[in-house]
Formats: sequence, C-alpha cells, structure tokens
Amino acid sequence: MKERIYLSSPHMGGAEQKFVQDAFDTNWIAPLGPNVDGFEADLEKYLGHGSHVAALSSGTAALHLALILSGVQAGDEVICQTMTFSASANPIVYQGATPIFVDSEADTWNISPIYLENAIKDRIKAGKMPKAIVAVHLYGMPFKVDEVTAIAQKYAIPLIEDSAEAIGSLYQGRKCGTFGDLAILSFNGNKVITTSGGGALVAGNEATKNKALFLATQARDEAPHYQHSQIGYNYRMSNICAGIGRGQMEVLDSHIEMRRANHQFYKDLFSANSEVSVFEESHHDYYSNHWLSCITVSKKAGFTNHELRLALAKDNIESRPLWKPMHLQPVFSEAPFYGDDTAENLFTHGLCLPSGSNLTEGQKQRIQEVIRSFV
Ligand SMILES: *Cc1c(COP(=O)(O)O)cnc(C)c1O
Repeated sequence: MKERIYLSSPHMGGAEQKFVQDAFDTNWIAPLGPNVDGFEADLEKYLGHGSHVAALSSGTAALHLALILSGVQAGDEVICQTMTFSASANPIVYQGATPIFVDSEADTWNISPIYLENAIKDRIKAGKMPKAIVAVHLYGMPFKVDEVTAIAQKYAIPLIEDSAEAIGSLYQGRKCGTFGDLAILSFNGNKVITTSGGGALVAGNEATKNKALFLATQARDEAPHYQHSQIGYNYRMSNICAGIGRGQMEVLDSHIEMRRANHQFYKDLFSANSEVSVFEESHHDYYSNHWLSCITVSKKAGFTNHELRLALAKDNIESRPLWKPMHLQPVFSEAPFYGDDTAENLFTHGLCLPSGSNLTEGQKQRIQEVIRSFV
C-alpha cells in the first residue's frame, strides 16, 4: 500500500514544542496560563481591527457562546447558512432554538443575500424576528460581507461570522473574523493551524470577551466560595494546547502561501479540462486562504466526482464530497429552508482535494498522475 495522502493534516512549524515545554517547566498544566494569554495576544494582533479574542476548547464551543452572547434562548429562531459543517448549526439546537437554513449563491458558495432577506421577511411575517445570523466563510472563501452585513444591520440582527475555515482570508483587504458582531475560529486538527483541538471567540470589545471568559469558566460569581447565578460551561483552552497555537502562529502566513500554491497546482492540472472547475475567487474583493481546494465536475465531463474520488482512493489518496447541506441532513429534516438547489448541486457535483500545507512535491506528483490518467 502506498503512503496515505490526507485531505488536510496537522503541520507543525517547529516552535510548538518549545512553548509546550515552557508549560511543563513552569507547571502551567491548566486551562489558563501564559500560553493562553500569549496565544490570544498573537491572534488579536494578527486579526487587528480592535479584536478581543477568547481562546476556547473548540470552534463549536465558541459558536455556542456566541449564540448565548447574542441573546439566543429556547424557542428562538436563528438563521444559518445551509452549506456548512454541522458544527455551525448544532449549537443553535443546544440553546433550544430552531435553525432556519438559507441557501448559497454561486460566486462564493456562501449564504445568498437574496434568500437571507427573503427568509428574514418571511419569519417576521410569521411573527418571529430571527435572533442571530450564522454566516460561514466556506473552505476559506469570504462570504459577501458587504451585502450580508447590510441586511443584518437593516433588521438589527446580530451577525455571527463562522470563520473556522478562514483564518488569514481577506475581504477587501481586511481579515475574516473581524466583520461580524461576533466571530469564531477553529484550531481543530484539520484546519489551517491547529492546537490539536481548540477554537476562539472574537469580540469587538473587552467587556464581551470577559463575558465569554466568565461563561467559559463555569460562570463563577465574585466570591471567596463557589457561587453561581448563571449556568456556566467548561470551554476554556488549555495552556498546553495554546502553546501549540503560539508555535503555529509563527508559520501561519507561510502555511497559507502553501495552501494557495496547492490551489494553483489544481488550477494548472485542470486547466485543459473545461468540464471541471476549480473553485476560486470571483472578484478581487475576495482573498481565500484556500483551506481546501475544491472542484465541481459538470454533467458533460464523462465522469463523476464520485468516480474521481474512487480513483484517488485506489491510490490511497483522500478526497471528500463537499459539505452536505444542513437542510438535507436527517437530523435537520424538520427545519425551514429558504433557497433553491444551489447548495444541493454543489454537494452533488463537488469534491475536496488534498490541500494540506505539508503536501510534498512527490505527493503532488502522485495526485497529478492519478488525475491525468483518470481524466
Ligand atoms: C471546523 C468547523 C467548525 C467547528 O470547529 P471545531 O473546532 O471543530 O469545534 C465550525 N464551523 C465550521 C465551518 C467548521 O469547518
């Protein structure tokens, strides 16, 4: 069996172990400590625009807190992009709220401003103002930030920016994660940078960050004993994981360059095949980190995305269909949906290709050979 080529695997830069060793040397083996503070400061500097960052145990935890901080409660409705990973939608249900799914548009594969506004108007007509909007920068591609924020502001609905896949991506030169009322990042093992598992909440001010930290550390009131007047969570990032994160920050920009080089590799590889399109920026407002390079295969290609996936799998190369839209998931079959078949068609015809920043020239060679001989 040939060595496995993964879709996106962790890629250490080298400095991570030094920060982890520091944690051991000083016995900061806790969900707080100098690495957590340092990692948050690194992220705040990286994102800019007055960002205040709370490092948490996962991106999912960050989304859950973002919903709580937006005032989402049981019985409420929250609008969510349907074309995404389930973690964008699950925390809505943790709160006892109902997700209202909205289709994508073709340029960015992200939430359609048209269907978004239709959904809001229709929910208002039915007597329910949505409590929040969860919009996602899918595969690192920024959503239509200007149009989506304008709609959120018009109806005064908090916008939660799911930037789990989009650290380092830009919209009009400004970093994703700085546009929403709140934003989240993920440092899961398959993301652009990893802390082995982790996430962050990005807030626009210190007070909101402090509220998030309060909730993330069991909601302990000010008192010498343990006193609680709210339900809390154990969502803080450990000082060990944050050490990995600090090391990863040193290589973040170079790893994004490598992901973007992978994307160029696939563009070159498929340039002669007009029936396969490589997903890319539709306009110079958008700059994607190209977390994953994705293609869609047209019906006229003479082969399907699934056949290509199986050909790659035969050579022990991992690829995966695009996210299956949430409104097509059995668990969300009851949830309202606004849109057409845009997300569904992406799922039916799309494929994510190996995109790790640690993809070697030899591995690209193998991918190229399999794809060339298959196509
Ligand atoms: C990974 C991911 C999350 C969840 O992040 P975790 O750190 O794995 O909990 C949320 N939204 C999207 C779009 C993701 O890709």
